[in-house]
Amino acid sequence: MGAPSPPRAWAEIDLSALRHNLEVAREISSCAVMAVVKAGAYGHELETVARTLAQADVAFFGVANVGEARRIADAGVTTRIYLLGATWADERAEIVARGWTPCLSSLDEARDFDQLAQAANVRLKVHLAVDTGMGRGGFVADDLPHQMPQLEALDGIEIEGLGSHLPSADEDETFTREQFTRFTNLAQALGGRDRFKWIHLSNSAGLLGYPSSPCNLVRPGLMLYGISPLPKFQDKLKNVMSLKSRVTLIRELPAGHGVSYGRTFITQRPTRVATIGIGYGDGYPRHLSGQGAEVWIKGHRHPLLGRVTMDQIMIDVTDHADIEVGDEVEVFGPHLRVDEVAAKAGTIAWEILTGITPRVVRVHHTE
Ligand SMILES: *Cc1c(COP(=O)(O)O)cnc(C)c1O
Repeated sequence: MGAPSPPRAWAEIDLSALRHNLEVAREISSCAVMAVVKAGAYGHELETVARTLAQADVAFFGVANVGEARRIADAGVTTRIYLLGATWADERAEIVARGWTPCLSSLDEARDFDQLAQAANVRLKVHLAVDTGMGRGGFVADDLPHQMPQLEALDGIEIEGLGSHLPSADEDETFTREQFTRFTNLAQALGGRDRFKWIHLSNSAGLLGYPSSPCNLVRPGLMLYGISPLPKFQDKLKNVMSLKSRVTLIRELPAGHGVSYGRTFITQRPTRVATIGIGYGDGYPRHLSGQGAEVWIKGHRHPLLGRVTMDQIMIDVTDHADIEVGDEVEVFGPHLRVDEVAAKAGTIAWEILTGITPRVVRVHHTE
């Protein structure tokens, strides 16, 4: 047995920043919060995030599927769990037995849950999802009023919520305003807050950019993790995840020397190259190659050279003689936000965060 070797790449996760961002969501929206923790809490480790936010009294956890619901419940967290996506038929008995809350998109699903609940002698709380523009799930908006009587007739389910989803809250204000109006009119036509205990539409961008009425519940994901989809609110949020690595080698290369696969970068001068222990095998996108990406070491940004490899990247530190083997590297974090990295990789912060692989050790702290 050798001595334990420290990880090459790790993610420091600040749980007090997570709690701060939750309070921002509550303050701005004046609504109860369904904390969206799908995809391992956007890469921040599902169980730890769920335990932390449960102590801050969120109304629901929003998860993608039954596997994630199980992990939260099995961690001893008793906060209600809401399934954001469609369920398979053979998952439904467990959903009924464990009292998780599905969102329904069809009469067939409603009837199936009704029968299972009646057989189990319970009344299952469910929400109706309505499609007001996302095109991914839910009852088609114009159909729902006609289907309501048949849904109401099902004694095994209690329809306690009405929800919809915004496709363009961070991209198209005109469409989003119209969508809010459409959803509000539909919710009112169906009885509004007298009929539904919970009415919800907004993700992070929706709750930051638009007043929530008649909603009383919001479903933030990304903003809880410290990134605002609307730049104007970024200052209110605190960074939660810092992806870090270390300098593993420093070498002097002569002018005219290729760096990394494909030799897409050739040194133009004698160059001091730092090799860093992170790569696309950790979720650092290979698409950053040749896009002007940078990392943060000892108070400065330094450019990425050549292609990202599976386990290592190379950085130009020619002008910074103080940088040494073992130095800590911020790949993204408070000095270099993940949305900047995402933009350079041609993608979005959500994808980078959820793409950090299991090899990256998650280290949680509160301070
Ligand atoms: C993922 C998701 C959210 C959270 O979205 P963010 O943009 O991360 O805030 C909210 N609602 C639904 C239905 C989702 O699928």
